[in-house]
Amino acid sequence: MPKSELSIVRVHNELLGTYGDRGNADVLAFRANARGVSASIIDISYRDPIPSTGDIYLLGGAEDAAQVLSTDALNRSLFAATIENGAVLLAICAGFQIIGKSYYAHGAKVDGVGLLDMDTVPGDRRYVGDIKLHSPWCESEITGFENHGGRTILGSELSPFGEVITGFGNGESTIDGAVSGNIFGTYLHGPVLARNPEFADLLLARAVGKVLDPYEDELAERYATERRAAVR
Ligand code: GLN
Repeated sequence: MPKSELSIVRVHNELLGTYGDRGNADVLAFRANARGVSASIIDISYRDPIPSTGDIYLLGGAEDAAQVLSTDALNRSLFAATIENGAVLLAICAGFQIIGKSYYAHGAKVDGVGLLDMDTVPGDRRYVGDIKLHSPWCESEITGFENHGGRTILGSELSPFGEVITGFGNGESTIDGAVSGNIFGTYLHGPVLARNPEFADLLLARAVGKVLDPYEDELAERYATERRAAVR
């Protein structure tokens, strides 16, 4: 039975909010409501327990110190078990690194949440700039911008989110991000769902349990098209 209500959980935005990824929640709520699915956004501070009743969980990008604080709080919560139960997760950049087995912050190795079989190591440079992908999950090319020092190495069974057309992706890599079940990780800021409405609808379909009716948001489409043309 498809859901008629969605709870969108924005996790630790005070720590994982440096790069404006909070907007992903707003795009999801707007596009759900436009289809008659009532969606609410819950902000969860790193001092609070993570609710297990959310339908979509969002982790954003962060600088190293904030990323470590967030990881510590997540590792002491029921977050991993909740996601393993089938909730949808979108994890961006620092959030993406956190859900792997390990990453480095200020030169020290940190244990991640371990939802995905991957490790992030320091790269040879900082990976900054516009990025464009072809993702098998979407018909349109996906655009965003990236700004990270980590290089992520996926385990052999883990699928990437997309193939890099322009940019660095997982770090000097031909691929970006990772996907496993309802877990989507990527290096793309933007916010990525504002720049790529098709990706937002994919996550909504997973959370609701059916593909939603088409919704033509002319402004969003124009923006997505403009960014696809601009990122060569
Ligand atoms: N601190 C991480 C890195 O530099 C993630 C940065 C980000 O979220 N943009 O690799």
